[in-house]
Amino acid sequence: MTVLNAFKLDDRTAVVTGGNRGIGRAIANALAEAGADIVIANRNPESGEATADEIASATGVGTFAVECDVTDEDATTAMVEQTVERFGGVDVLVNNAGIVVHEAMETMTLEEWYAVIETNLTGAFLCSRAAGREMISNDGGVIVNVSSMSAFLANHPQRQVAYNASKAGLEGFKNQLASEWAEFGIRVNNLAPGYVATDNADQGAQVAENAVETWEREMLQDRMASPEMLGPTAVYLASDASAYMTGETVVLDGGYSVR
Ligand code: NDP
Repeated sequence: MTVLNAFKLDDRTAVVTGGNRGIGRAIANALAEAGADIVIANRNPESGEATADEIASATGVGTFAVECDVTDEDATTAMVEQTVERFGGVDVLVNNAGIVVHEAMETMTLEEWYAVIETNLTGAFLCSRAAGREMISNDGGVIVNVSSMSAFLANHPQRQVAYNASKAGLEGFKNQLASEWAEFGIRVNNLAPGYVATDNADQGAQVAENAVETWEREMLQDRMASPEMLGPTAVYLASDASAYMTGETVVLDGGYSVR
């Protein structure tokens, strides 16, 4: 296999949770450009369908959207069943769906804590279990969890303990799952972005005046990422280009974590 061929995803099917907007949409676009058929799984069917149609007309790959709240066990099972029905299997799962709640520890409610943990961590568990059962019966696959530099570092000036705990949880989840499913030919890796210009980051920017300037000052590259900047790394992790990599995290944060 040539180097460039190793990045190709022809004849593969990739499910991207939260693929309708933000980072998920950019990842779905990139995987489609590499040749994968794409399933957009999110809560808002209209937005999911619009994104799936746009990707199909831009790249020519097969796409469809499935309404799926990643915290709903039955919905995650149904999402994989529909994917198998349409494309015959699941080769790649990108656990991207995520939320953040900006609230100080001393005033954060239990509901806010659970909402973040259930979306970011339990959602990855449910989707991976459903897709993984299918991958096991199909001799392998790839799981990519969108983690965050917040798994490793405190954020300033935001208050977001549930978010950071959920992303740190994804790191342990990835290590153990990579170990348990290596025998089935399933690779599990994390992609940990720094600050990326999306709705999620906009929420963070509103917690303090000059928040964006504060973050950018702390990055070696002096700027937030665009969602599209994550696409090539997602293709690398999803494809045979990373065939010998499992249980790892790729940090893509413009040098924030070494500041
Ligand atoms: P956005 O807020 O732009 O998008 C969030 C996505 O998650 C939407 O597609 C949303 O779908 C989906 N989603 C949320 N909850 C659920 C749910 N219960 N079930 C299904 N889908 C759901 O966020 P980003 O694109 O910025 O973030 C994507 C991922 O990247 C998240 O995991 C986030 O933590 C992570 N990340 C983001 C960073 C950033 O700076 N932006 C930095 C590091 C990591 P819907 O439209 O249906 O609500």
